[in-house]
Amino acid sequence: MRIRCWGSRGSFPVSGMEFIRYGGDTACVEVESSKGDVVLLDAGTGIRAFGNQFAAAQEKVVHLVLSHAHLDHIMGFPYFQPIYDEHAILNIYGGQCGAGSMETALRKLMRPPYFPVDLSALPAEINFHEVGADTFNIGVLKFTPIRLNHPNGGCGYRIEEKGKVFIFLTDNELQRDNPDTGLYEYFEGLCEKADLLIHDAEYTEEEYPQHESWGHSKYTDVIKLALAAEVKRVGLFHLNALRTDDQMDAIVADAKKIIRESGAATECFGIGTGFEVVI
Ligand SMILES: [Zn+2]
Ligand SMILES: [Zn+2]
Repeated sequence: MRIRCWGSRGSFPVSGMEFIRYGGDTACVEVESSKGDVVLLDAGTGIRAFGNQFAAAQEKVVHLVLSHAHLDHIMGFPYFQPIYDEHAILNIYGGQCGAGSMETALRKLMRPPYFPVDLSALPAEINFHEVGADTFNIGVLKFTPIRLNHPNGGCGYRIEEKGKVFIFLTDNELQRDNPDTGLYEYFEGLCEKADLLIHDAEYTEEEYPQHESWGHSKYTDVIKLALAAEVKRVGLFHLNALRTDDQMDAIVADAKKIIRESGAATECFGIGTGFEVVI
C-alpha cells in the first residue's frame, strides 16, 4: 500500500513563505493498493492538484472516501477536475453528517449562490455510497469505519491489504485526560500494531485547554496513543493553520524525543504535502 499526501492543513488553506515545507492545502490523502486501486481520502483543497494529474493520465474512475463534511474536508470538491469530465465515474463514500447524508451535504455545497454549477448538472457520473458501521471493500482494500469524536460526527478508517494496516483518523479528539468516556480505549484497540497511523495533531499542550471539546487532539496524546497501540509509524496531520514550518519541526522533534525516551522504535513524521510512504 502506498500512501501519499496532497494536503494536510486543518481548518483553512494557507499560503506564504512560512508554510512552504509542510504546504498550505487542506486534507487530501491518496491510498494506492498493490493492485493499483486508487482511493482518495477527503476532498480538501489538496484534491485539486491530484485531479489535474489524474485528468492528464486519462484515468476515468475515482474513489473518494470522506471523513465528514466540514468545509476544510470538502472545499476542494467544486475544483476537482474529473467532475467536469463526461467520461469520469466518481464513487463517493461517506457517513452521516450531522442530520443528513454526505450526498445532501455536497448537494448543498454545489448549488447557487455558493457555487454556479449544481451537483446534478455535473458531466461526470457520480455514485454515492452510504457508510455505516460495516466494513466495505474498494478493489483489494478493506475499509473499516471508525467513529470520530468530533462535532457533527464523522468517520475515520482502518484500511487493510495483505495484513498491512493504515489508520486514517483526522478531526478526532482523543480526550486522554477524560478516561470516563471510554473513547481512548476504543481508538487504542482499533490502532493496535498498525503499520501507519495518521492522526489529527492540531494542538500543543499549552493550546489545548482553550480548545477542549472542539474535536481535535494535542500531538502529545497522539504519540501516547501510538505508543500504547504499538504502531510502527505515526504521522501528525491536520496541521494547525497558523503553525509555521519551524514550529511544526519543533513539534515533530519533541514527538520523536517522547518516543525515544519511551524506548519504542516507532517512526514519527509531520505529514506535509508530498509526503509519501509505502507500507
Ligand atoms: Zn478539519
Ligand atoms: Zn472537522
